[in-house]
Amino acid sequence: MRIHAKTAFVQGNWMKDVQVTCANGIITDVKANAGPLAGATSIDVLLPALCNLHSHTFQRAMAGMTDFRAAGQESFWTWRDLMYRFIGHLTPDQIEAIAALTFVEMQEAGYASAAEFHYVHHQPDGTPYARLTELSDRIFAAAAETGIGLTHLPVLYTYAGVNQEPLAGGQLRFSNDVDRYLRLIDDCRAALSYMPDDTRVGIAPHSLRATSPEDLARTVQAMPDGPIHIHISEQLKEVEDVQAKLGQRPVEWLLNNAEINNRWCLIHATHMTEAETIAMAKSGAVAGLCPITESNLGDGAFNGPTYLEHGGAFGLGSDSNVRISLTEELRTLEYSRRLRDMARNVLVVGEGSVGKTLYTGAARAGSQASGRDSGEIAIGKLADLVAINRDHPALCALKDDQLFDGLCFAASDNVVTDTWSAGRHMLKSGRHIARDAITQKYRTSIKKLLKVI
Ligand code: ZN
Repeated sequence: MRIHAKTAFVQGNWMKDVQVTCANGIITDVKANAGPLAGATSIDVLLPALCNLHSHTFQRAMAGMTDFRAAGQESFWTWRDLMYRFIGHLTPDQIEAIAALTFVEMQEAGYASAAEFHYVHHQPDGTPYARLTELSDRIFAAAAETGIGLTHLPVLYTYAGVNQEPLAGGQLRFSNDVDRYLRLIDDCRAALSYMPDDTRVGIAPHSLRATSPEDLARTVQAMPDGPIHIHISEQLKEVEDVQAKLGQRPVEWLLNNAEINNRWCLIHATHMTEAETIAMAKSGAVAGLCPITESNLGDGAFNGPTYLEHGGAFGLGSDSNVRISLTEELRTLEYSRRLRDMARNVLVVGEGSVGKTLYTGAARAGSQASGRDSGEIAIGKLADLVAINRDHPALCALKDDQLFDGLCFAASDNVVTDTWSAGRHMLKSGRHIARDAITQKYRTSIKKLLKVI
């Protein structure tokens, strides 16, 4: 696979007339000032593509259903109630169809891969399917159909709260004890034999609400390598519950009781004290930030300035998938702090481009959290790449050094022309090559679902 780019961002520098060659999903050669390349795809600006490090694909089908105010004040917890009713009816076919559409939309937004935090495992009454991996297999199938790079993260979800309340209702589909969970992980790893080489399987203890300290320790010990993702400190009530039960705030407790390192991705980490923020920044873990969902759910704003000042790594996730837009995730992250602090250009240490800080930071750390060796255009890296059209009116006035700011603050995702996931060229001229068939399947599935919810 060969690409010729007029401009490319190669290992931190803007270069002209760049040839990129890939084989088996890996970048094998990068040459600047090199002229056209026979048989190459010619594009305008080539960037390393981001990993979307946190997604629950099935929630895409709920987008727009929860943004009205019912009796009393809408909150995260009432949103969650509707989500449980919704998943009470989802079938395996519907889960696959929704995941495929969601992956297409991610690639069209410029993501090369997705880390799927997958927690619907069983039938609606909690009985496992004949194959324990039935619903994980549907995620693998959707990834294979769309060509997106997948880091599959089956979720350990055992309790309904920190006091180890039993699961009920819609939550029954999530339920596993550690033994069955470890079997599920093993069975998911078997899929690696037929999935593309860049597919990864990691673990995801859901949260300190849904996993006990003992189960968390046992699960982590059983998995000596690969990514570990956990939801943490998203909501104030969760912070209060964990503090009451475990005597420490969630991030504080995790840092003191688990060996947090660069395998870990702490999703949200919204509510942290200054001391927690600094300690987490130094731990090597990635903060998995989901600015659009965190805004939609009214979670709060991440303490980015302190975190960045202490060298913290962060990536971006689309989480509830209420809207899939990489440019909007980037600007929402910065704007949430500007509004709160009444200041401009907040998420950059010292002087420099906010867009570049956010994009390149998310590329690096997203790759770390997904277990993908990508995030940079360099020989030996996975060919996770995205092309953008700088002739677009939103970008055509900008110099190279301003392109990340243009992408972050001025453009929509329609500046994305091509996306490669480990060299698989699935997005061409701004359109996913399987979009029509996948959209049609999605519409049919949703019609059936709406008849029963
Ligand atoms: Zn989530």
